Amino acid sequence: MDSQSSRQAVFRFAPSPNGLLHLGHAYSALLNHDLARKTAGRFLLRIEDIDTARCRPEYEEAIHRDLRWLGITWEEPVRRQSEHFPFYQQALENLIDRGLAYPSFLSRGEVRERVERCEAAGGTWPRDPDGAPCYPTEERTLDRPRAERWIAEGRQHAWRLDMEAAIAAARDRLAGRPLGWTDTGCGPQGETGTIAARPERWGDIILSRPDAPSSYHLSVTLDDALQGVTHVVRGRDLFNATAVHRLLQVLLDLPEPAYHHHGLVLGDDGRKLSKSNRDTGIAAYRDKGLSPADLRLLFARDGLVLDGLRLG
Ligand code: GLU
Repeated sequence: MDSQSSRQAVFRFAPSPNGLLHLGHAYSALLNHDLARKTAGRFLLRIEDIDTARCRPEYEEAIHRDLRWLGITWEEPVRRQSEHFPFYQQALENLIDRGLAYPSFLSRGEVRERVERCEAAGGTWPRDPDGAPCYPTEERTLDRPRAERWIAEGRQHAWRLDMEAAIAAARDRLAGRPLGWTDTGCGPQGETGTIAARPERWGDIILSRPDAPSSYHLSVTLDDALQGVTHVVRGRDLFNATAVHRLLQVLLDLPEPAYHHHGLVLGDDGRKLSKSNRDTGIAAYRDKGLSPADLRLLFARDGLVLDGLRLG
C-alpha cells in the first residue's frame, strides 16, 4: 500500500447490520485493521444501517462481538449512519438544486413491465454491473410543477441521480481530466492500476428512498470524506460501485481516497458467501473451537494474504 504522503492513513470497516458477519467480512476487517496498525494509521468501524427495515440491533451487537473476538479494536464513538440522515439530506438537496437529481414515482412492478415489454419486442434493456435492470429515464423530464403536486399529495417517491446530467456536470469540473481512480487491488476482470470510471453503466441510481432518506452510494461517499478516510479497502464485489463514488466525489467536491479492492472469500460452491448462511458466519467458526489465528491460516491457504497484500 502506498504511503502517499505524510498525512496519517485512515482505514475503515463499514458493515451493514442486516445479517451475521461471515469469513469474507473477517478477512476485510482484519486486513483494514492490520494495515492501520502497520502504517501507524487509524482504524474506524462504521455501521451502515440506513436500511432501517433490514438492519437489527442484534446484528449490530454480533458485529461488535465478532470483531472483538478477532482481536480488532477501533476508535469510539462509532458512526452509525441512521443517526445522520439530515447530513445526507443536505447533499441530496444540493444535487436537486443543481438539477442533477429528480423525483421518481414508478413502482417496481411498473419498471418490470417496461423491461418485459422492451425485451418481448426484441429490445435490450440496459442492466447495471450487478445485473439489475437500470431505472427508466423517462422521468428525468417530468413536468416539475406536476411532480411537486404529486409529492405534496403524499405520493411515494424516490430521488434519483440524472446520470447524464451528472456526468456532464462532472466533466465540466474535471476540465479535461478523466474520471477514474487508482486501484492497488484487482477488479473482477483483473483490472488494476488506473481505472476509467464508467458510472453510466449504473443508470439513474437512487439517492433517497421513501423508507430511507439516503442511499448506500450517497452515504458511503459522504462519510468516507467526513471521516477523512484515506484508503478504501473493501471486497472486489464493490469494485464497480467505485465509479459512482468517484462521480459523487467530483460533484460534491470531496477528496479522492486510494482504493484497494481485495479478493473475496468464496464458498465451496465457488460463490460469494451470504450473510444468511450461519455455517460460514464468524460465530460458527468460533463455536467450532477455531481461533482467529486459524482463520488467518485459512485466508493464506486461499491465497488471501493479510500481511504482504498478496491477494487472490
Ligand atoms: N456497507 C457495505 C456492505 O456491508 C460496505 C460498504 C463499503 O465498504 O464501501 O457491504
